[in-house]
Amino acid sequence: MKSDRKEMAITIANDPTAYKLCTVCGAIVDKEAHTCPDCYAYRFDDNANAVTNAAMDLAIKEPTAVSHLDLAPEE
Ligand SMILES: [Zn+2]
Repeated sequence: MKSDRKEMAITIANDPTAYKLCTVCGAIVDKEAHTCPDCYAYRFDDNANAVTNAAMDLAIKEPTAVSHLDLAPEE
């Protein structure tokens, strides 16, 4: 498990309007993204409360799917 998930969640929760939720896989993506980087869907929920709730879930839950970040080569 990546140790920075909680930090990411806090960053997102502090500025939820900069993000949106993928309505297909639930990923939190940058508001500027046109498609989900994880599942390539293009339907999003940009409700700030929903984004904040998803960020809080991210902070406390174990990851249940492989993220595109997990597949990135180590620097
Ligand atoms: Zn998705």
